[in-house]
Amino acid sequence: MQGQHGKYSECGNLAGVRHIILILSGKGGVGKSTISTELALALRHAGKKVGILDVDLCGPSIPRMLQVQGRAVHQCDSGWVPVFVDQEQSIALMSVGFLLEKPDEAVVWRGPKKNALIKQFVSDVAWGELDYLVVDTPPGTSDEHIATLEALRPYKPLGALVVTTPQAVSVGDVRRELTFCRKTGLQVMGVVENMSSFVCPHCAECTNVFSRGGGEELARHAGVPFLGSVPLDPELTRSLEEGRDFIQEFPKSPAFPALI
Ligand code: ADP
Repeated sequence: MQGQHGKYSECGNLAGVRHIILILSGKGGVGKSTISTELALALRHAGKKVGILDVDLCGPSIPRMLQVQGRAVHQCDSGWVPVFVDQEQSIALMSVGFLLEKPDEAVVWRGPKKNALIKQFVSDVAWGELDYLVVDTPPGTSDEHIATLEALRPYKPLGALVVTTPQAVSVGDVRRELTFCRKTGLQVMGVVENMSSFVCPHCAECTNVFSRGGGEELARHAGVPFLGSVPLDPELTRSLEEGRDFIQEFPKSPAFPALI
């Protein structure tokens, strides 16, 4: 297939992908999709070509965060052509969100159907040449995680980035996530602590809304790198609601240094 997607269509599956990073979290709502999206944007700013594979089948939020919800996935000779987020085709996204008839439709599937779709996402998407494929996973350690690992592992060594909030309940779930990584032989690149503090935009006072330091302590205990703390920033929430590029628009945000 030539034309709009020509340069990607000749090369199916993951043969042209250099690095794969899985984004994991023990709980929902801790900012896993946020970190996946901002990591992809930061890599693009560093001149890299990035793909995002959204295997959070029951809660696909990345199409909305990148304002490409409702876009259609096309077929070409070598499989599905992912949705390109920008004109330069530097971020490609595949999500179950593009396959639903209505954007708010609930995905009520049993494990085998989910596993089959994940396998198809890996083998039937024409990812083309990518520096990084960022894989946003559902919370916990479910069927989807095992299916994703089984499908991806033959292609490349994988690395996992684990997202937590600082409070004990989230940290406890992440500990289970780290055990999952150890049992499945998945290399942990590091832990990111999200929503670690709130810096008042008026007086710059820093409040540790959910306590502090849990992620760092967890990383130290587990013997894995601690990659940094991302504070709460209402501009980040708004940017993700509106599909804006936070890294480009808010370089003075307290969250910026940890995201870039
Ligand atoms: P998950 O993927 O873990 O379920 P999300 O990434 O969807 O979590 O984040 C949940 C909500 O919190 C989203 O509305 C997101 O915009 C917001 N959010 C996440 N991290 C931050 C942050 N550091 N500052 C402000 N809002 C954030």
